[in-house]
Amino acid sequence: MKNYFQPEIETMPYDGIVALQNEKIVKQVKHVYENVPYYAAKMDAAGVKPEDIKSIDDIKKLPFIEKDELREQYPKGFLGCDQKEVVRIQSTSGTTGRRVVAFYTMDDVLIWDECCARAIVAAGGSNEDVVQVCYGYGLFTGGPGLNGGAHMVGAMVLPMSSGNTERQITFAQDLESTILCCTPSYAANIGEVVKKMGVKDTLKLKAGIFGAEPWTEEMRKDIEELLGVKAYDIYGLTEISGPGVSFECEAQAGMHIQEDHFYAEIINPETGEVLPEGEIGELVFTCLDKKAFPLLRYRTRDLCRLTREPCTCGRTHVRMSKIMGRSDDMMVVKGVNVWPTQIEQVIYRQGYQDKYLIVVDREGVKDSIELNVEKTPEMAADPAFDQAKAEAKLVSGLKDMLGIKVEVHVVEPGSIVRSEGKAKRVVDKRNLYTMM
Ligand code: ADP
Ligand code: ZN
Repeated sequence: MKNYFQPEIETMPYDGIVALQNEKIVKQVKHVYENVPYYAAKMDAAGVKPEDIKSIDDIKKLPFIEKDELREQYPKGFLGCDQKEVVRIQSTSGTTGRRVVAFYTMDDVLIWDECCARAIVAAGGSNEDVVQVCYGYGLFTGGPGLNGGAHMVGAMVLPMSSGNTERQITFAQDLESTILCCTPSYAANIGEVVKKMGVKDTLKLKAGIFGAEPWTEEMRKDIEELLGVKAYDIYGLTEISGPGVSFECEAQAGMHIQEDHFYAEIINPETGEVLPEGEIGELVFTCLDKKAFPLLRYRTRDLCRLTREPCTCGRTHVRMSKIMGRSDDMMVVKGVNVWPTQIEQVIYRQGYQDKYLIVVDREGVKDSIELNVEKTPEMAADPAFDQAKAEAKLVSGLKDMLGIKVEVHVVEPGSIVRSEGKAKRVVDKRNLYTMM
């Protein structure tokens, strides 16, 4: 059975990982300095020469790269090699503004595929599996990433892309898909249709690899139940390669970062200071060996914490917690910080699912926040369901979680638009941020 687990790398003792990183970072900084004039000028301005970087510890001397700089340097300002060597581009989803284009050499694609292959194996996949990829294909990295990883594993791939949910289910039945890959919101959406059709027992699915957007533990349980799978989180971003930068193993206790390719730091987002293991802060990545888009100390704006506690799976790579939010997902409403995932926790605890939309608005100087959440079909069918009471309970749960009053509307099933990719959870009508 071919399974692509790489114990020599994935279970390498920590000092081995550090030795590998020491070796790679010296070469990589030289590569960037010689090929990306924009970053070389930043290093010059900071008074750092490539020779100053002798080990991974010296990375602290290097300047950060921010998302806005990638946008300013659009399209090719961070291209790190001759364009003749580039075989592919991908692009961010543009969730928070102007898209960023990332470039890949053939070796870069192979590194990325390898990371996705490891993720599939960690979810129990092998060449005996049928992997149904219903992440979007195209510029978005979800589809191509898992597709490439599944090829490496030798599994049979169904390159479905997202959408057409009933066809997804028919293919899953007819081709006996065992692993489903898509965003968690789309997985919940598929699960809802499976339930409506009453066909859960006809499916052979055993695992799901779900990522590209934040999701809560409550949502995980829901999806696992709806689809009869074990649900694994996978994380990544186009700027660093795509999905597979980190992924969960069977312990479902944090995502292992592929440290032979990506070096992770957690910083205080306000001061840029590197924080000790275990503290929550902004995740920063350095690509140790990618050539065409070789970002050093890239600030992701994603908030999480890292741990080096040994994992029961035997993998030694550092684990990151679930993403607690994007710093740019955070809304300041009535002067209070609000993350959509906090609201999601409250609604799940009260028996609702991920069918919700948050609307923020401002009249004069006064903010308002409104939550629209769908009744589950069971609630809708229950003659004793008391709408006013249910809404009051949500208002009170949200007040406890956030400290502010949220206007709540419990709406009929099917009234909130279903997601096929990354779900849109928030409509902010205040126009506080201008999109580029
Ligand atoms: P965009 O930044 O435009 O959404 P990408 O498609 O490259 O572009 O998405 C990367 C981002 O998606 C990450 O920076 C992170 O915010 C989010 N993301 C990816 N995977 C996960 C995950 N497993 N959990 C939470 N957020 C995730
Ligand atoms: Zn593990």
